[in-house]
Amino acid sequence: MSPGHSGRCLCGKVSFDTGTDPLWITICFCQFCQRATGSDRMIEPIFERAGFTFTKDSPSVYTLISDGSGKRIHVHFCKECGTKLALTFERWPDRIGVYVGTLDDPASISATKENSKYIFVSEARRGTILPPGVKIFDRHATANDGTLIEPAIYTSSFVVGAQTARRCRPGERLTGAELTLPS
Ligand SMILES: [Zn+2]
Ligand SMILES: [Zn+2]
Repeated sequence: MSPGHSGRCLCGKVSFDTGTDPLWITICFCQFCQRATGSDRMIEPIFERAGFTFTKDSPSVYTLISDGSGKRIHVHFCKECGTKLALTFERWPDRIGVYVGTLDDPASISATKENSKYIFVSEARRGTILPPGVKIFDRHATANDGTLIEPAIYTSSFVVGAQTARRCRPGERLTGAELTLPS
């Protein structure tokens, strides 16, 4: 049995198996993701491209250029029902990002403070609440040249547009149970 996670579009024409567990989970609030999901964020577990397969039919692909990097982004969607299933990237050819809502078992993958990155929080809707202890980035988590950007980490919930949380001091560790996404 595959250790991966299965998922499908609304109509069932396109399905997939991720092949593995995610490398990490990106929660992105950029306007591209807001528009592409029709919602306030994209929750995107990232997998090795090599292990991932579309197991039934192939999705259609819409390609656009990223404003930030100038590189191509490919949106994989079902042309029958319009569901978006995955993203691939010219910039990271060995990765694939999945729209988390297409998973058959949504509970099989959860974002923790260890495995997640909250990016483009500068474009998040006012009032968006992020859990304490998670890695928060104004925009990307890496610069165009591949340099890692230092995240902001807060000791309490971060509320976009009403910021009162305190940033963790360097080396400060939060105690308590593993944090999961607010439900
Ligand atoms: Zn479909
Ligand atoms: Zn985004």
